[in-house]
Amino acid sequence: MAGRRTEAAVSAGAFATLLTFVVSTLPGVRHTSGYQLFLDGWLNNVVYAFAPAVCLVRARRATAFRSSWFVLTAGLALYGAGNVYWTIFIRPLDPEPFPSPADGLWLSFYPCAFAAIVLILRQHMKRFSASLWLDGLVGGLAVTAAAAAALLGPVLSATGGSTAAIVVTTAYPLLDLVLLLLVVATLSLYHWRPPVGLWALAIGMLLFVLADGIYLVATAHGTYEPGGLNDAIWVCAVIVMSFSPAWADRLAGLKMSGWALLSIPVFSALAALGLLIARDVHPMALALAAATIVAALLRLIVTFREALVLADSHELALTDDLTTLGNRRALYDRAERVLSNAEHTHAALLLLDLDRFKDVNDSLGHHAGDHLLRSVGKRLEAATPGRECLLVRLGGDEFAVFLLGAEQTVAERVALDVRDALLEPFVIEDVSVQVSASIGVAVCPEHGTDVGTLLRNADIAMYRAKAQRSGHSVFSRGEGDLDGLQRLHLIDELRQAIRERQLTLYYQPKVNVDSRTVVGLEALVRWQHPLRGLLLPASFLPLVEEAGLMHDLTIAVLEQALDQLAVWAAAGRALPVAVNLSPSSLVDIELPSRIATMLSERNLRPSLLVVEITEDVLMGDPEHAKTVLQRLRRSGIAVAVDDFGTGYSSLAYLRDLPIDELKLDRSFIERMVGDERSLAIVRSAIHLAHSLGMRMVAEGVEDEQAASELFEAGCDQAQGFLYSPALPPEGLESWLVAHALRIAVPRAAEATLTPVLR
Ligand code: C2E
Ligand code: CA
Ligand code: CA
Repeated sequence: MAGRRTEAAVSAGAFATLLTFVVSTLPGVRHTSGYQLFLDGWLNNVVYAFAPAVCLVRARRATAFRSSWFVLTAGLALYGAGNVYWTIFIRPLDPEPFPSPADGLWLSFYPCAFAAIVLILRQHMKRFSASLWLDGLVGGLAVTAAAAAALLGPVLSATGGSTAAIVVTTAYPLLDLVLLLLVVATLSLYHWRPPVGLWALAIGMLLFVLADGIYLVATAHGTYEPGGLNDAIWVCAVIVMSFSPAWADRLAGLKMSGWALLSIPVFSALAALGLLIARDVHPMALALAAATIVAALLRLIVTFREALVLADSHELALTDDLTTLGNRRALYDRAERVLSNAEHTHAALLLLDLDRFKDVNDSLGHHAGDHLLRSVGKRLEAATPGRECLLVRLGGDEFAVFLLGAEQTVAERVALDVRDALLEPFVIEDVSVQVSASIGVAVCPEHGTDVGTLLRNADIAMYRAKAQRSGHSVFSRGEGDLDGLQRLHLIDELRQAIRERQLTLYYQPKVNVDSRTVVGLEALVRWQHPLRGLLLPASFLPLVEEAGLMHDLTIAVLEQALDQLAVWAAAGRALPVAVNLSPSSLVDIELPSRIATMLSERNLRPSLLVVEITEDVLMGDPEHAKTVLQRLRRSGIAVAVDDFGTGYSSLAYLRDLPIDELKLDRSFIERMVGDERSLAIVRSAIHLAHSLGMRMVAEGVEDEQAASELFEAGCDQAQGFLYSPALPPEGLESWLVAHALRIAVPRAAEATLTPVLR
């Protein structure tokens, strides 16, 4: 409190005396010219005495740069002492001795001022970059060069007398120039937005240099008059300086744009160049101008290097380390720029996910996995030669190709090219690895006009491609067009449908190829969505997988299928029902006992249940899967391998695992008619199944021709649209009634196998 009051009193005193003195110097206020003892002697000295006093009281309260302020106080005190000494001891002498101790006191202000500034800058050493330092230097040097040109010529030409006199006379302008350089450089380092306190210091010092300059030039010409405006500037300078402590945290000044900031060194260099071209300037000014240009050149070099480093780190931030393709950020950064720049651009995004990449990683190790990803990256590059496209790895085994100017047909062409490029096996650590990919395609503007939407839609299409094993799939509006919120909502509805056993099961008959009697059913899940209608597994199983609901779904399907089976069994019309097990269900070691409970609760024989697994389950944790399957089979449940022939696993599992049935994938059946090689595969697959004591079921039989080929080849059972698509329970019942007679070969012994016929 007392500190504040003292400060207020000292400041008020400083202001009052300053104002009085300044007013006295205004033209027309003084009546007599020349030195006046009261004004120029006493009042002037009182103002000079107030300066260190103000500075000291403010420095004691300052929070930042305190050491600078104390040094400044000392400088101001020495300067004031010089004035007092001169007034008392030198001025009365005639002639006045020069140099005198007063000059010593005055000159000692400079080292204090320099020290104050250097102490401030030292705190920022680390924060200021090389370019910033150079900016400060260029600006400071240029201003100093200009001031030197204006000052040095006239001042130094007038020096004469003793060596000491020459040295002192030269010292003033030179030290002023150094001060000027430091002040301008400091302001520039702060981007011309220093704390308020530094503005006071800088403005005070600039005024000081100005007053000094005017004085020196005036004395050189013999025109100096005491008590003039010049003296007013001087006292103003010291009082402004004395106010600089405090306000260290408030920034003031114009926030300059990068261009404005850049223009400072540019204009500085131009000004320096101007000085160099102009003749009759003091050599010192020329040297300073030359130094300005050297500093400006250095600044240019530093800028160039910084730009290179910046570009480099920008590039690094957008590059995928592993493949050196772009990364996800690059896709967002670059593709977004393209999409947002042009209004009607055509573009396409291909999202590519490797099938079974995890298997490679798990069986050959991460190193091999990385190697494979790198090779895939190279193949992608090779598959898109000369195309205006951006290749990125999004992460894991997901890649994206952003095609500029591509419409859907082009995008699909590229998708096929990419898949072709991946066909050839990869040789990874002497092991030949076959990789395929599922590709989802979304095109701009039809499926989205920003990267986020395109990615999401390509992702949906990719999941469909994976589920349907179709290689690639183009996003279609309406079906899977879900934004994030809708997706979450849908997952919620799915969870509920699964929990409340609200899924719908359709049943597709399995028919004996030879007798054409119905020998079993496959339960295929559907989801009757209140708004979207009846959904096929391909459209929601990816979501189930994604939400981690697959195991719950399997249990729900099992329960619902067994419920239906119990109804049919009660009516005396039980047919074995096959249920698809996802790979994740086989991880559940409790599954066999849970199924056993479900069966016994419904009084159903285990032989009425078939579980269908795919070859993938054996890739993850074969030992685990083997245990689960063995337990299931021991309890009397049959095990079928679904989509046989599409996996990449070796056939060894057929020897080790308990399997009753192989279901030959429909891709073989599709191509079989008229294609000897496909037919040969079908035949030998059937032969293989039989020699291992398994039955063969053909999937996707759509026409009579295929049926008869299969019959010829000795296939046991078939499933397909030729007989019936999957039907809801009531539909199946009427189908059985309507078609049973037609498809049943009239062989009495076989007919009894079809209880529903009765
Ligand atoms: P999948 O197990 O291979 O099932 C056979 C699919 O082929 C069914 O499609 C069926 O409708 C279709 N299909 C049957 N005959 C023909 C034919 O002659 N020609 C053609 N082109 N297609 C035929 P759906 O019902 O869409 O099921 C697709 C896949 O979804 C299934 O393939 C299966 O992998 C999966 N899935 C279905 N239900 C379940 C389930 O309850 N749980 C699990 N985990 N997956 C299921
Ligand atoms: Ca199946
Ligand atoms: Ca199948």
